[in-house]
Amino acid sequence: MLKVLRKLDRPVPRYTSYPPVPHWNKKISSQSWLSSIQKNNIASLYIHIPFCEQLCYYCGCFKKITKNKSIVNDYMQLIKAEWEIYLKNNPRLKIQTIHIGGGTPSFLSPKALKDLLAFFSPFMLNEAKNSIELDPRTTCSEQLQILKEFKFDKVSLGIQDFDVEVQNTINRVQPYDLVEKLVKKIRQMGFSTLGFDLIYGLPKQSMRTIQETLEQVLVLNPDQIAYYSYAHLPQKIKSQRIFAQDDLPNSESKKNFFYSTSIMLEKAGYIKIGLDHFVKKDSPLYMAKQNGKLTRNFMGYSELETPLLIGLGVSSISESENYFVQNTKSFSEMKDSLDKKELSLVTGHKLSDEDSMRAESIQNLMCNEFIDLEKITYEELRQSLEEFVELGLLEANGRLLKLTERGRPYLRVIASCFDEYLGKNKVVQFSQSI
Ligand code: SF4
Repeated sequence: MLKVLRKLDRPVPRYTSYPPVPHWNKKISSQSWLSSIQKNNIASLYIHIPFCEQLCYYCGCFKKITKNKSIVNDYMQLIKAEWEIYLKNNPRLKIQTIHIGGGTPSFLSPKALKDLLAFFSPFMLNEAKNSIELDPRTTCSEQLQILKEFKFDKVSLGIQDFDVEVQNTINRVQPYDLVEKLVKKIRQMGFSTLGFDLIYGLPKQSMRTIQETLEQVLVLNPDQIAYYSYAHLPQKIKSQRIFAQDDLPNSESKKNFFYSTSIMLEKAGYIKIGLDHFVKKDSPLYMAKQNGKLTRNFMGYSELETPLLIGLGVSSISESENYFVQNTKSFSEMKDSLDKKELSLVTGHKLSDEDSMRAESIQNLMCNEFIDLEKITYEELRQSLEEFVELGLLEANGRLLKLTERGRPYLRVIASCFDEYLGKNKVVQFSQSI
């Protein structure tokens, strides 16, 4: 059986979208996308701030490394111009929630941050709840005050690992004391949710460093923890080539890191949800999970249903019931398009009925951790799922197949049964499932 399970550790998508981005079928014009969402009066907004002061070697995000802060001014104009196009398309458009991600959102000076949020403020619904990703190395009190002023209630800190040797190896040195001080400020200011992002599988990590990091994390007591598996793709991500192969934990070690972390977090009162999140019982994500309302998109797990997600800024992805579209990664291309009052979309996908059906099954599995057999019409698919039942990764319960604890590390592999694009037409690099 061990052999069979090892074979399951294969490269598969993370399924933040279905179909995954490399299988999107075409470029969608600015006009088609805008027409398709003209009747949506409520949107969630994702704003991408692509700038970072220093390169973290493991990073696969789209970012621009620079210390030149003046670059922000022109970029803010692009973000605003992009929103104006959406607003012209539907003047009734209101914002349900804003999430600012990166790159490094805290690259914005307090002045730039305030200016950006004041611009969007008139379009925010009264009950809007906003969130942001912060880098502890570049976050100041003034920025936090501005975030409070503009209804930000959730902040996520990029922690990754507290071990000094690991931090040096990945080129992201942020001492524990610095994070501790920031956490105190965040708590004093009354943000309702504090999240930590951690990564396992980084070079130089060992069971000792993983457990020590976790002990320090538990002292700081975040409300939720995203525990991501490091995706080593040196062919695609140049900066990862600096890592020595011998320093990288193998998949067996990674699995052990995840198990040991799970045990520590569960003992401390956290509950595991989905692929890689741990939350407290009173957290909005846990309540959403209990009510079958947990969702997942490019930004991660969420308690909010979002019929329309608008991504602003270079490389951002937008999503509606029937479409995915992605902005260009080129600043100049984006500027040229916006000057012509058009969005600069480089790729996209219009979902077929078949895509939607498969996407729903994947979403259900990733969020609610079960598969409804009555929704499966393909005999071939049922057979694959039966194999997972035999391996103890799923268990039958009436018309439902429920994910077991043993099956959790293989969630992406199980989801890949629904993926009719996997392995077809294109050679695409995905990370190992574990
Ligand atoms: S991990 Fe974050 S801060 Fe580091 S380079 Fe990537 S986007 Fe920038």
